[in-house]
Amino acid sequence: MARKSRKDLHKENIQPQSEILYYTAIYARLSIEDNGIQGDSIENQIEMIEKYISKCQDLKVIHTFVDNGETGTNFERPAFSDMMEEVKKGAINCIVVKDLSRFGRNYLETGNYLEKIFPYLGIRFISVNDHFDSLHDRKSDTLLVPLKSILHDTYAKDISRKVSSAIDIKKKSGKFMGKIPPYGYVRDEQDRYKLCVHTERAEIIRMIFKWRTEGMGSVSIAHRLNDMTVPTQLQIRFAEGHHDGKEHALWRGSAVVDILKNPCYIGCMVERKGSNLLCKGRENKVIPESEWNLIENTHEPIIDKETFEKVQRLVSESRGKRKQQVADKSYRQRTENILSGMVQCGICGSGVHRDSGYFRKDGSLVHYSFYCSNKYIKTKGCSSRTVDETELHNYIFQACKKQLELLADMKELIDDMVENQKNSRYISSLKQEIRILEDKQQKLRRKRNDLYADFKDGLLTEREYTFRRDKYMADSEQLSIQLQAVNAELQENSQMSEVTTKWISDFICFKDTKKLTKEMCSVMVKKVVLNENSVSIHFAFTDEYEKALAFLDGYGKKCGGAT
Ligand SMILES: [Zn+2]
Repeated sequence: MARKSRKDLHKENIQPQSEILYYTAIYARLSIEDNGIQGDSIENQIEMIEKYISKCQDLKVIHTFVDNGETGTNFERPAFSDMMEEVKKGAINCIVVKDLSRFGRNYLETGNYLEKIFPYLGIRFISVNDHFDSLHDRKSDTLLVPLKSILHDTYAKDISRKVSSAIDIKKKSGKFMGKIPPYGYVRDEQDRYKLCVHTERAEIIRMIFKWRTEGMGSVSIAHRLNDMTVPTQLQIRFAEGHHDGKEHALWRGSAVVDILKNPCYIGCMVERKGSNLLCKGRENKVIPESEWNLIENTHEPIIDKETFEKVQRLVSESRGKRKQQVADKSYRQRTENILSGMVQCGICGSGVHRDSGYFRKDGSLVHYSFYCSNKYIKTKGCSSRTVDETELHNYIFQACKKQLELLADMKELIDDMVENQKNSRYISSLKQEIRILEDKQQKLRRKRNDLYADFKDGLLTEREYTFRRDKYMADSEQLSIQLQAVNAELQENSQMSEVTTKWISDFICFKDTKKLTKEMCSVMVKKVVLNENSVSIHFAFTDEYEKALAFLDGYGKKCGGAT
């Protein structure tokens, strides 16, 4: 039987008697929460669906789509997307699932597919266990589907709660339930809930703790690790081929602090350190440290308790000290970083930070500097220079001033021209041209109508008619193109005046500014790039500037001495 178009199928769907062949997709999904539950394996699902299909002569299986292990609370599942691609192509017009929960458990999404998207695309949808077939249940049971979806929505929340509590129980029994083992540990090959020491990385952990007890701060430790090119957790993930890894991730002080504070290094497991709720799309709620429950001796420790406790004291002491320092130094002349987020490194492309500043004893500012955030690694480290803030501000200010002078000149020129333009010969010649072209087009249209009348009256043969008609059409097309071009030219010339002066006025208000301000930066400067021996400033108005230049240039040429 010949394949029908989607539209035809849709039409015929309305009549329940079916002699149409449906190009059918089997969709099966195994979700993590189903692991181990008998009767719901992928094989079982497919077998059941196939059994059902074998009794339906109008279903022809084209493809079986399987999503393995995704939760189903949203629709981002690879096989599901592939299937929808096929649906969009028209290669599939029927989807069979074992039950609605295979399809999705989010009420809004499922409902949207079943009630809007599938009917619109003319897709037949069969859910074997729910005895639902959109071909037959079109009218009577439309209410049933959203209702069931709501049930499944609650079900997903329920399952999420169950999974969370199952995780709790495993945590209580000291099993490792996290996604990624802490640095220095790997999963036991025999028991995925058990942590094993990774010999080399455990050495790194010991080093980090040792340095801290020797008085090094966490930021210095991070710098040293970067200098030694010790791989970070993210780099390891990248090397292992995980999609959440990063090739060039660096050690940061915060990561070091996290390690120093993690009791897993003394062989303890933390219970309920953040709870995972599946139904909310993996939102993590962090539980405060005071509510942590420690289960001791769950795995081999890397750090002895004495060292760990000493480090905890040091960490909280230095945190207190830092807070005090900030409070103590409130007399310092701190200034706002008006270039925040604007400065980039031209060598490695990374962001450029402002340091915490140097101050005299009386609190007066000596200087702030800017440095590339990738400066502190030796191998792939960035060779860019540190730049003094005052110097950088001066440079940007001078450059902006120069631009403003140019713009002021430009505005004067444009204003002059605009004044002249109002009755310029050029504009009126454009208007004249448009009138002529429109006239020609009008005539052509009339000719075409006459031509058809002649053909109908039998004055022309069909061949003569089509030949001339095509010629007229080509001419008319040509005229339209010309008209468009002249119109655009006219518009550009008449609008230019307002557009150009408008943006220039926006800038010129900074003309009398005596030093670089935040407002000036945010309006005029797009970004500042630090190169090895120079600074380049990208202005925000490059496009307009070019346009205005072109306008001045073109206008001058076209008008010649006419104005
Ligand atoms: Zn850099």
